[in-house]
Amino acid sequence: MSSATHPLITTVKSLVDAATAPTAGLSGAAAHGKFPLAGGPDGFVGSVIDSSTSLIAAQRHDIVRFGMGAPAAEVIPTEELKALAGEALTVESFGYGATEGEPDLIEAILGLADSDGAPTSAERISVTAGGMQGLDLAFKLFVSPGDLVAVESPTYTNGSATAFAYGADLLEIPMDQHGMDVDAFEAIVGELDRVPKAIYVIPNFQNPSGTTLSEERRRKLLDLAHRWGSVIIDDDPYGDLRFSGEHVPSFSALSPQDPQVFSVRTFSKVIAPGLRVGWVDADARLRTLIGNAKQTMDSCTNVPAQHMVSRFVTGGGYADHLARLRREYHARKDAMVAAIGRVLGERARTTDPEGGFFLWLTLQGEDAGVDTEALFETALARGVAFIPGAALSPSRQFRNAARLCFASSSPERIEEGVARLAGALDAVGQR
Ligand code: PMP
Repeated sequence: MSSATHPLITTVKSLVDAATAPTAGLSGAAAHGKFPLAGGPDGFVGSVIDSSTSLIAAQRHDIVRFGMGAPAAEVIPTEELKALAGEALTVESFGYGATEGEPDLIEAILGLADSDGAPTSAERISVTAGGMQGLDLAFKLFVSPGDLVAVESPTYTNGSATAFAYGADLLEIPMDQHGMDVDAFEAIVGELDRVPKAIYVIPNFQNPSGTTLSEERRRKLLDLAHRWGSVIIDDDPYGDLRFSGEHVPSFSALSPQDPQVFSVRTFSKVIAPGLRVGWVDADARLRTLIGNAKQTMDSCTNVPAQHMVSRFVTGGGYADHLARLRREYHARKDAMVAAIGRVLGERARTTDPEGGFFLWLTLQGEDAGVDTEALFETALARGVAFIPGAALSPSRQFRNAARLCFASSSPERIEEGVARLAGALDAVGQR
């Protein structure tokens, strides 16, 4: 089939054509005010909702925030980080650092990779300003305008928006409870006249669905990538936050030093997002290119923040810290699944994640026709925020679904938020 008009493919052109009127005097993406995906036909995506949510939340402190994917404030190791900041703020750290990252942090990262069973080497590591910069570097390096990039459906909007920003056509691949349906993927590509240049995948406790890609499917995805010459952009911010079930080996553990695997990692979810520290682990031959690209972005990642992170990771308490996060998030996930079961019953079904931050709620039965974008306004007025499903799909599927973050709220607040959500559903149903 010609891929120009395939129903699973969304192109930049189709979005720009559907976007709002151009702004006089500007050209390109700027003429449309935003990147096409973020602007969208009606300007309604995750990042927009997150920022409007936080604006409203600034005025209404009692809002239950299931929208944003932020770590709980009470599990951020504030006191420890404050103490480490004192040590990290040296005169050397106020100068420019190495573009590829501070050696002590790279050393700490190698230790983490080792314990994950995916040994790597310093030449493969580049420190980044969080996971987002890693994704930006990946798409910048691998994607030219018009290239096909496969994404999970649903997917993380800031990831797909980054691919769009570099001109990708996005191919949405269906998922089930074991993650991306790789057999369907193979069949879909078999019908196209081209193969994906990159495969963007969030293998553990996926944002937004909460599902984990099985080992069998990881192996098959590696096979497909090798057959097609595609790069796997392996975005894994949540892998260390498994609170139940069995660990699944990473792509790098299954295929060590694979030149077709580009791993994007971040400390945002396990230490603190405001520090903006992450890394990429990729073929050593890419390091110069990554460094050149990073030079034009920020020259180097914030140096004191890197020293704080490396001290925190190697200081002896990191394993206990992670164990505490897992315990806390497990309790919150359980609270959310139980509250939804009790309060919404047959009106909704959810995924039951084994880690991470998010679960995916699908309205069913009499509520199957409810549009969660329409529900969003009512829910916000009643004091609960979430991300509507359509905001997490380039072609805006999943109109009766939503992403809920269980990580940011205490179990009591989760109960309250689910009750408010049910109230909003009732209100929408009665209209
Ligand atoms: N990828 C995924 C799947 C995420 O959920 C996030 C954070 N929401 C990021 C990347 C970006 O991470 P960071 O905040 O470190 O830039």
